[in-house]
Amino acid sequence: MNAHTQSPLLPVYAPPAERFVRGEGVWLYTDTGEKYLDFIAGIAVNALGHAHPALVAALTEQAGKLWHLSNMFRIEGQERLAAKYVETSFAEVVFFTNSGTEAIEGALKMARKFQSAAGRPERIDIIGFSGAFHGRTYAAINAAGNPSYLDGFGPRLPGFVNLPFGDHEALKAAIGPTTAAIIVEPVQGEGGCRAMPLECLRGLRELCDQHGLLLIFDEVQCGAGRTGKMWAHEWAGITPDIMAAAKGIGGGFPMGAILATRHAASGMVRGTHGTTFGGNPLAMAVGAACFDILNAPEFLARVQDISNHFGQALEGLKDRHPGLVQDVRGKGLLRGLKLSIDPKPVQNAARENKLLVGVAGDNVLRMAPPLVIEPSHIAEAVARLDAALGAVKAGQAA
Ligand SMILES: *Cc1c(COP(=O)(O)O)cnc(C)c1O
Repeated sequence: MNAHTQSPLLPVYAPPAERFVRGEGVWLYTDTGEKYLDFIAGIAVNALGHAHPALVAALTEQAGKLWHLSNMFRIEGQERLAAKYVETSFAEVVFFTNSGTEAIEGALKMARKFQSAAGRPERIDIIGFSGAFHGRTYAAINAAGNPSYLDGFGPRLPGFVNLPFGDHEALKAAIGPTTAAIIVEPVQGEGGCRAMPLECLRGLRELCDQHGLLLIFDEVQCGAGRTGKMWAHEWAGITPDIMAAAKGIGGGFPMGAILATRHAASGMVRGTHGTTFGGNPLAMAVGAACFDILNAPEFLARVQDISNHFGQALEGLKDRHPGLVQDVRGKGLLRGLKLSIDPKPVQNAARENKLLVGVAGDNVLRMAPPLVIEPSHIAEAVARLDAALGAVKAGQAA
């Protein structure tokens, strides 16, 4: 191939040929005007669908006033949005970032600094679990421990311990005098849409309290209303010390946040951390508009209802394709179909049927539709998935 005909983009992704140029609600439109039902929503990002009028208004209004200021000045939007998070969650302090992996990075730094500032600098180990995904920066790939994301990027960083998912005994045995914190996604996204049982989340809280460890929840994917509560850990009736959020909280505008108790954040004094773009006025304007919609009790109740409906519809698909669909996974509107085969051909067949879905580890077809879906969208998605599963089965038989 001639160098000029090759894409100028670093080939770390392999997108399909469709060119999406416009979105509206749960629909995406291509440059040729074809309409696709979006059941992945930028991987749990477009929580309110595409081009939500309240978000468009918030962004355009702010765009005419002030784009960027730097954290060397007070940013009014940050104070306002942080107050909303603090009033409605376990958190007492908030730090804004641009992405999920930066929120994770800051959360891990905060946990180590907490131990160090408390006179226990030897406590640097962060315990994470197999199947986890925490983003792509060095600390994040080390915390998640997925070998395929670590390979070729030099030695593993010291201070990260990776344990099997759901093995309480292994966890108890691994906690020692150098342990600082435990990090976990209440519902794993990338790893295969696996919800951690609520009693396990409570068990983690107890272990952390017993041993003076900090509990970090990665709610980058499962938070922001996706499970029908603002934050997924609320289902377990316990709280973390530190939480990373991103994806859905900006409704499509890049933003993340570290939420923490004052106690957990006590080491993070002036000069210990920073960001140029994090908490920029544009992100804060959209984030506030998004939060006000997501956090309304009627909205979350509706997400719970539609999630139950979606779960039942997916169970129906499992019954119709028993050899292919082994299990329905996940929670709320973060759902997976665990397949007996590689999910890619099913994802492709779904796209041929104008339905966009994702894939995840462990042969899982992943779905994270906008939280504003209606029953009619579920019926449509399930019909298209049914056709896709049927086509893949027919292809296998041929
Ligand atoms: C996507 C994701 C991240 C990383 O977020 P980025 O914005 O891509 O950096 C971290 N943790 C979880 C659980 C995620 O799903």
